[in-house]
Amino acid sequence: MTQPEAHSCALLQVKNLKVSFVTRRGPLTALEDVSFDIAPGEVLGMVGESGAGKSLTGHAVMGLLPPGCRVDAGEIFFDNRRIDDLCEEQRRRIRGKEIGMIFQDPLTSLDPLFTIGDQLIETICEHLPFSKAQARERALKLLEETGIPSPEKRLDQYPHQLSGGMRQRVVIALALAASPRLIIADEPTTALDVSIQAQIIVCLKRLCSEEQTAILLVTHDMGVIAEAADRVAVMYAGKIVEIGPVKNVIQAPQHPYTQGLMGAIPTLDLHNEWLSQIEGTMPGLSQRAQGCAFHPRCAAAIDICKTGPAPRLTECSGSCVACHLVESGDQKRLSNVREHQTFKPLGLREL
Ligand code: SF4
Repeated sequence: MTQPEAHSCALLQVKNLKVSFVTRRGPLTALEDVSFDIAPGEVLGMVGESGAGKSLTGHAVMGLLPPGCRVDAGEIFFDNRRIDDLCEEQRRRIRGKEIGMIFQDPLTSLDPLFTIGDQLIETICEHLPFSKAQARERALKLLEETGIPSPEKRLDQYPHQLSGGMRQRVVIALALAASPRLIIADEPTTALDVSIQAQIIVCLKRLCSEEQTAILLVTHDMGVIAEAADRVAVMYAGKIVEIGPVKNVIQAPQHPYTQGLMGAIPTLDLHNEWLSQIEGTMPGLSQRAQGCAFHPRCAAAIDICKTGPAPRLTECSGSCVACHLVESGDQKRLSNVREHQTFKPLGLREL
């Protein structure tokens, strides 16, 4: 059994992270044995259904877990320095300066009472040794780089005077203000029109390749992953079930859940009349099954999936996959999973 090898020059390393919610009935595990790394300039996409744990992973890296949630085990290293055991004041200094954040709704990241310029200049002055005039220059440059037209004019405007797409660009400019080395982008384009989504993704990718900034891109949208990510981690019920280069995972998914996700994406191929659907729903925190958490929905499940230990990530064809069939080398049964998927009349011709 193999865990994914840490990248030799990883900027962020998450090792065996376990996070749980404390409830009156005892702790409920939300993340289990989550391990991954991100290199400078790399975009790691994290994809999965709501409740799979992808946003929680981003929040754990930032040290911003919600109330009642705690890290039970594991380690988080940033630039070879352990950060998960730092005090809140030390974590706060790393956030913004070293690790930038972009959330789904730009209105929650922007203060409606201050102009765009005030917010950018304050953030720059907090993290960099700049005078106000220098900070204003940098703010202008950031707005230009994020593709905001008439940046001089925008500096003096309030968030409500900008469109949704422009507000999200301002949030990206804010996240980049202190030249962070890692950005955690949690559903950065979900609230935007499709055309604006593409512009934001292009903008993020360009800025990050120029600055060698690493990105953890959390999204439920495989289209965004395909456009933006270098590698992708697929999460299910609090665990990474497949992680590998984006091309591998999209073109030749190996885990039955990833295969189901890919089969549910519409294509422009008009011969593809049907979209597959994974039967059932992802279990809640208190309903996770013994063995492989995916077994109640998996067409390829065998006895060990129900009664044995949970499968561990195993290297296979350039990716790592958590599935007993991969562990045992039963590729034939695995490749038959597609045929076992249930098909629903959701074909493009009906849409
Ligand atoms: Fe399906 Fe078993 Fe693999 Fe889980 S371990 S994905 S149940 S075949």
